[in-house]
Amino acid sequence: MERAPLIDPFARPITYLRVSVTDRCDFRCTYCMAEHMQFLPKKELLTLEELDRLCTAFIDLGVRKLRITGGEPLVRRDIMTFFKGISRHLDSGALSELTLTTNGSQLARFAPDLAALGMRRINVSLDTLVPEKFAAITRWGRLDQVLEGIAAAKRAGLRVKINAVALKGFNEDELFPLIEWCGAEGHDLTFIEVMPMGEMGEEMRLDQYWPLSDVRARMRERFTLTELDESTGGPARYVRLEETGQKIGFITPLTHNFCESCNRVRVTCTGELFMCLGQEDNADLRAPLRAHPDNNEPLREAIRAAISRKPKGHDFDYSRQKVAGQMSRHMSHTGG
Ligand code: SAM
Ligand code: SF4
Repeated sequence: MERAPLIDPFARPITYLRVSVTDRCDFRCTYCMAEHMQFLPKKELLTLEELDRLCTAFIDLGVRKLRITGGEPLVRRDIMTFFKGISRHLDSGALSELTLTTNGSQLARFAPDLAALGMRRINVSLDTLVPEKFAAITRWGRLDQVLEGIAAAKRAGLRVKINAVALKGFNEDELFPLIEWCGAEGHDLTFIEVMPMGEMGEEMRLDQYWPLSDVRARMRERFTLTELDESTGGPARYVRLEETGQKIGFITPLTHNFCESCNRVRVTCTGELFMCLGQEDNADLRAPLRAHPDNNEPLREAIRAAISRKPKGHDFDYSRQKVAGQMSRHMSHTGG
């Protein structure tokens, strides 16, 4: 069925959707969640069927890449039913990529099935290779379980990208160990700058902030860095380490303005469509989903209307030692 693709007011085609399928998680990473989180009542969450209809509506409107996130997507009950269903769009060619961002804790169980349904690559978050530090930063996680999960993903043929949040005073000393481990294992590696999400104290946030410009400078002491031109339409920029040939990514939402080429939108686990990670404006997609269980046209109409309001960029700013543009919602709600 031919439909006009989604183009926002700044002529950016919207081809990439990230969907959070749960706000729950089996970890409590200190930069992401409070230890005692109040999670949403189940009825607020989109059901697996609603998630399928929602993703399908976006795919009908030209979305080609779908990333499932959370919370921890692999702790959502029966999530494989959703993945199996939605993989029909890979089979038909409507979707070119179905992928996942995970903390890795459940990968040992699910990696073979994910690979079998057509997933090719996944992102796994891992900030440290030291068991005690891993336990401290995730509060509830166990490093060996995650490493086992990553190994299972590799065995299943999934390409793994490690995402490490750069945290001052926490993993500064692991910059080279992380690079070496990823190199030896054949994983890609991307560093993420910590973002002002959730209601964490301003002081703590500035304490944790390790600008990626510093990370790069540190890397230059040991490696020759070549800037790569490629852009994924997202916030990542890449360099190649000439000595090892590794490609390292940097996600710098705060020190680099990446908005001009933004091709993506996000949907929360309750069906709110956020047109920009750094802006509060959103559209309720759960209402048209639930009001019209047998007709996706009102849903597609709501999506089109929302995309016509996609803003030019975000307002995050750490300058002058103040966290400006701070967002009150947690990353686990919007989906990282
Ligand atoms: N649970 C999955 C995981 O950890 O990969 C998916 C959801 S998690 C919210 C997605 C990504 O957001 C993770 O890589 C995590 O490190 C990152 N993240 C969470 N809070 C963040 C923050 N305040 N600043 C920057 N990245 C953050
Ligand atoms: Fe859970 Fe991912 Fe947030 Fe850590 S970053 S608490 S694993 S959702």
